Amino acid sequence: MKFAYKKSGMNQKTLLEAVTFEGVGVHSGELAKVVLHPEKENTGIRFMLKGVYIPANYRYVLGTDHATVLGKDGARVSTVEHLLGVLYMLGIDNLTVEFLRGNEVPIMDGSGYYFYKALKDKVLEFKEKTKILRLKDAFEVKNCKAYIRAEPSEGFCAFYRGYVRGIIDEGVARYCGNAKEVVFARTFCYEEDVELLLQKGLAKGGSLKNAVVIGKGIVYNPEGLRSKDEPIRHKLLDLLGDLSLLGFRLKGRVFSHMGGHSLNYQFVKALAESSLSTSSKSSLVSTP
Ligand code: ZN
Repeated sequence: MKFAYKKSGMNQKTLLEAVTFEGVGVHSGELAKVVLHPEKENTGIRFMLKGVYIPANYRYVLGTDHATVLGKDGARVSTVEHLLGVLYMLGIDNLTVEFLRGNEVPIMDGSGYYFYKALKDKVLEFKEKTKILRLKDAFEVKNCKAYIRAEPSEGFCAFYRGYVRGIIDEGVARYCGNAKEVVFARTFCYEEDVELLLQKGLAKGGSLKNAVVIGKGIVYNPEGLRSKDEPIRHKLLDLLGDLSLLGFRLKGRVFSHMGGHSLNYQFVKALAESSLSTSSKSSLVSTP
């Protein structure tokens, strides 16, 4: 496996000012409040809960069951992926997400829309360049029929291909800088899985206001889908959020076939670890 590290043409970014989000956590059902604080160059993205800083990095992933959970020193924060996906699309690299209440990022309307809307005009660019990982060979991680494959490319693009039982036989969503076409897509679940999710202690804050619920060939939400392929686009948002846990930007094309949080995590971990073994560790450091 060959990799090259370099400073990209892209500059590091943070926010111009602090921004607050408040709302229910989709899994905990509890109210949460987070403040996004601007940070200086080379800080990275990190969460802060009761004085513990948790870097947004694959090394701190504690769980991937229906959400990405990060933790350190007994502190854990969950459902980080939609906010991280939006930050990735906005190119924001330096930020502290402080929890003032709860420990789950508010689900808002189930998409990245409210994060994107509040942050897009508050981006501050530094002179310092972003560190990127440039792929020189293809890299793939598989789990049965699902796989995630990355290939060398001059820019960054991500694709998600999958299906939604009874609704979409096959759909492909694409991100190549077109954030607006991805951020609006809400999370979804199947009606028959709701009971199991609740038994697992998940989805306690879930409702038709923050998730699309799909029955046998029908969508229960009265307003319907926001786009024909909304669930596929949402899986792409999840992928982008989880990819940000690499801790640096990827130069290449990433193609996910039926991947979910678990495979996203396996992909990021395997990619980071195989690049560590072929390159000096110092070149990888971009988060605290
Ligand atoms: Zn999601």
